[in-house]
Amino acid sequence: MRRTITIAAVSALVIMSIASRARPADSILVTSRSRSLQPGELVVLTLTTPARADDIRVHVFSRDIAVYRVDNVTWRALVGIDLDEAAGAYAASIEGRAGSEKLQATHRFTVRPKRFPTRMLKVDPAFVNPPADMEDRIVREAAELDRIWTLSSVERLWKDPFVPPVGKAATSAFGSRSVFNGVARSPHAGADFPSPAGTPIAAPNAGRVVLARDLYFSGNTVVLDHGLGLFSLLAHLSVVDVRDGDRVSAGQVIGKVGATGRVTGAHLHWAVRLAGARVDPVAVLALLGR
Ligand SMILES: [Zn+2]
Repeated sequence: MRRTITIAAVSALVIMSIASRARPADSILVTSRSRSLQPGELVVLTLTTPARADDIRVHVFSRDIAVYRVDNVTWRALVGIDLDEAAGAYAASIEGRAGSEKLQATHRFTVRPKRFPTRMLKVDPAFVNPPADMEDRIVREAAELDRIWTLSSVERLWKDPFVPPVGKAATSAFGSRSVFNGVARSPHAGADFPSPAGTPIAAPNAGRVVLARDLYFSGNTVVLDHGLGLFSLLAHLSVVDVRDGDRVSAGQVIGKVGATGRVTGAHLHWAVRLAGARVDPVAVLALLGR
């Protein structure tokens, strides 16, 4: 009888040690901030390590996530939930190193579904069914932007909080399913700031100009690389005051509001990309602004 009990106790111990090996205790403390956990939102994770970490890496949505050091034991990770991310349960895997010690954590969260409104717009028919001789240009420009999103500076080029690019608040039509002249087109991946033509546009934050020219749909366009996979695209400008390769500071004037490209009138369109994810710029102002 005693012998049976001993065997049972030993096997319970073995099972326990297998279980703890499969799921090591998290050595990084994770806290999360966001407006909500829905498509188009920014999630700011604060990671606290038991000792000064040499390196931290975060992976979720099949992407490497932007991570930067705040102080000796604190890091921040910026997770973008793409506009088209499916609702459901996700886990961010967090791995780091402090000397020879391995650090890790798993942050589990659930993305809730979001119903975006549909908006009906009337534009020049050439922007709904572009002329055949424009097709090459449109395909080339889309490919160029897709390539730009993969070529961010490995350094964080911003330090200060994000600022609104124009004084007016956004009437964020982010994510709306846009119907142009009765024809459905891809969802609106930015926020619109209604502002009169000629209003100066401030860089939402410091960065490097990686594109400054006229594109078919977005008109006169400036793309800023803020580093770590974070980009701002500012569209429909009447005047562009910066050139490819320029370094800009937060709040520096980069051009003026206009009505170039596929528009219904003068306004500023600001779009944000974060590790490829399309995120609402108003969420960026809410979480990384003043
Ligand atoms: Zn827009």
